[in-house]
Amino acid sequence: MCSRKFFVGGNWKCNGTVDEVKKICCMLNNGEVPCPNHIVKSMLRTDFQVAAQNCWKGKGGAFTGEISAEMLANLHVPWVILGHSERRQLCGETDAIVAEKTAYALDNGLKVCLCVGETLEERERNETGAVVARQTAAVASKICCWANVVIAYEPIWAIGTGKVATPQQAQEVHYNLRKWLDCYVSPHVAMNMRIIYGGSVTAANCKEIGANPDVDGFLVGGASLKEDFIAILNARN
Ligand code: PEP
Repeated sequence: MCSRKFFVGGNWKCNGTVDEVKKICCMLNNGEVPCPNHIVKSMLRTDFQVAAQNCWKGKGGAFTGEISAEMLANLHVPWVILGHSERRQLCGETDAIVAEKTAYALDNGLKVCLCVGETLEERERNETGAVVARQTAAVASKICCWANVVIAYEPIWAIGTGKVATPQQAQEVHYNLRKWLDCYVSPHVAMNMRIIYGGSVTAANCKEIGANPDVDGFLVGGASLKEDFIAILNARN
């Protein structure tokens, strides 16, 4: 029996002055979202968990500009987003590097939101399934426990473009990825893995995409900076 809890992440990227962040936190703290209403610890209610957007692939040290998994754990940051397409495309992170980072982060007590997804050219060549499987397989070769992983399927052509995948396209990729996990990792991992969708999710399209049986939540960029995010958090309600 499986009860995958709906998971929604907001990816603020390289945005937000202190005033802007205060405004977003205020919007989140006052939003009606489907979780218990605890008291604010710092700026955010404690029922929201914070994620870093990257971390170093191994033990910290002389790596200027990086942040290590140990440092994040020490700061009580529970999550890290790894393998985002902006990191893969702009910072040269290969499947192998993303896999190494994932393994190291998990070993150091972090939970990982692992991003996978194809380019438009790859989709047009019918390579979506193969690309997503290859990116996931790289990680599967380095980790044995998937309990602290959420996989975000983020088609690169949909990120920040306003071109959202259709509910059918999202469901198809999520279904095939779950089948891949069933075959190459384990039926238990496949059944329990939360596979979330990212790419131009808005208040207007979240309900239809989120209604699919293999869509277990969202990773949200642009809309997480706006009031829209509250509606997205409530997509399944
Ligand atoms: C993202 O960057 O992870 C993302 C999904 O962005 P957006 O929602 O803006 O497409």
